[in-house]
Amino acid sequence: MRLANLAGRAVILIDDATGFDVHAASRGAFGPGLPEIYQRWAEFSAWAATAPSGAAVPIIRSELGSPSPRPTQVFAIGLNYSDHAAESGFEAPEDLPPVFTKWQSSITGAETLVRLPPGGSTDWEVELVAIVGRTASDLADGTGWDAIAGLAVGQDLSERVSQLRGPAAQFGLGKSFRGFAPIGPWLVTPDAVPAKDDLELWAQIDGEDVQRGRTSQLIFPVARLVEALSRIVTLYPGDVIFTGTPAGVGLGRTPQRFLRPGEVLTSGIEGIGTIRQTFVAS
Ligand code: ZN
Repeated sequence: MRLANLAGRAVILIDDATGFDVHAASRGAFGPGLPEIYQRWAEFSAWAATAPSGAAVPIIRSELGSPSPRPTQVFAIGLNYSDHAAESGFEAPEDLPPVFTKWQSSITGAETLVRLPPGGSTDWEVELVAIVGRTASDLADGTGWDAIAGLAVGQDLSERVSQLRGPAAQFGLGKSFRGFAPIGPWLVTPDAVPAKDDLELWAQIDGEDVQRGRTSQLIFPVARLVEALSRIVTLYPGDVIFTGTPAGVGLGRTPQRFLRPGEVLTSGIEGIGTIRQTFVAS
């Protein structure tokens, strides 16, 4: 199943261009938005498996919001691909990789305009995003996928000067400027993603490849991340996990390169879809 947030309403996709409204098709039992659905994800999934399709509505990409627009918690994972750890000048982590947050107000949807902060050091990080489907703590080894409602494409946009300056790094703030956490284009349930632990992901600027990797290269794969996090914090339905980025970010290049006004960043993951951000000057 592919589930979109179309102008604030949950819509199950029929194909890439059309879907049907969950609230209408379920006669008010589920929705209208996605946050309510995550609270009853198992019940919703059972209904959706046999739901009759409702009236088709067009999927207008500019109206797609984040599949989880108001997560209780956002976890973002650093240095989770060894080639990206190396380009960042760090050893690959052996224990749980660094975990930080992107605040909720930075979350947007699939096709957006992003205002670049002054300073010219905004960078790209394409990432597989996992959305939690139930309350979970102390998950046993091998059960992480059971707690995941679905997957989406995310960009962990990062303003490197404010991220890295000062006596201690400011990962949360440097990565939470308005519009810095686009997620989309929709949620895809794990059963609908073939080879869910080996997905190609990429980022392009104006059509030129800047990142290309595979989620099979994750040091902590999705299930293991979820299990490890659940032993420290309680995960809640709708929580968002940015799982880390492969090599090719602007900070790791010689010379360094950052996003400029007018550039278009396209980010995609095999079996899920693409999101697109256009950058404008502040
Ligand atoms: Zn990241």
